[in-house]
Amino acid sequence: MPLNKARISPMDRGFLFGDGVYEVMAQVDGRIRAKSLHAQRLRSSLDSIGLETSIEQVFTDVERLTKKVGFSTAKIYVQVTRGTADVREHAFPTIVSPTIFITISEFEAIPQFASQAIVRPDIRWRKNHIKSVALLGNVLLMQEARDSAAQEAILYRGEYVTEASTSNVFVIRGQKVVTPPLSDLILPGITRHLVIEIAQLLGISVLEDNIRVDSLPEADGIFLSSSTRGLMPIVSLNPGGCVGNGELTSTFLALQHAYDERLRCYE
Ligand code: PLP
Repeated sequence: MPLNKARISPMDRGFLFGDGVYEVMAQVDGRIRAKSLHAQRLRSSLDSIGLETSIEQVFTDVERLTKKVGFSTAKIYVQVTRGTADVREHAFPTIVSPTIFITISEFEAIPQFASQAIVRPDIRWRKNHIKSVALLGNVLLMQEARDSAAQEAILYRGEYVTEASTSNVFVIRGQKVVTPPLSDLILPGITRHLVIEIAQLLGISVLEDNIRVDSLPEADGIFLSSSTRGLMPIVSLNPGGCVGNGELTSTFLALQHAYDERLRCYE
């Protein structure tokens, strides 16, 4: 339905408590990239918050809507909340009827330009492996990036990098690529997963290891990964200055090219 006809109750728990999860997918040339991996992650996010919903039904609806809308290249957002209850109460309602909201908007899948990132403490909660709709920490961090004329915020807890406000982080050291290991501190990015697979296919060695935040300025290259932006190179840090010699490395360019090629045939 048109956006101005869609209605959600003000008692929706997504609105009141941020009690819900979501998924973001990119459709390129009429195909949803890595759909089965997105379906698995949505399942896992829903399980983590104890919310039962038929993933099959959600994806049937997504398919129906993408056909109806007819965009070739689009961003697809699926939000699932714990629905509405008459009484405002933190604990789950006894009867739950999830609210499911799917939006599809046209976008251009173009290679990302060399970008800047601010580097900031990770102020978010401790369960970032759940793709929660409660994104206030991410929102504040991204705004801080924009206010500093940067495109992203790279985050750290203690001495180590976690991820960025809307993407995962990779560091290039010589011929090697390093990314923080999966834990409850980061989202298991679908693009992160694909980059690791692609690097292995290209014979580039990938290490899932902690990255000291103070080592970032010494990297030969840094890039961020997400479904809607693909691989985004970071050439300047604040604080930290220029990354490597400020040029995109051959390792990055090989990965970015292979990522775009391979995703045309990834189910
Ligand atoms: N980390 C965070 C905090 C994100 O919000 C996102 C994407 O929205 C990612 C990582 C990248 O995940 P994906 O590659 O699945 O898009």
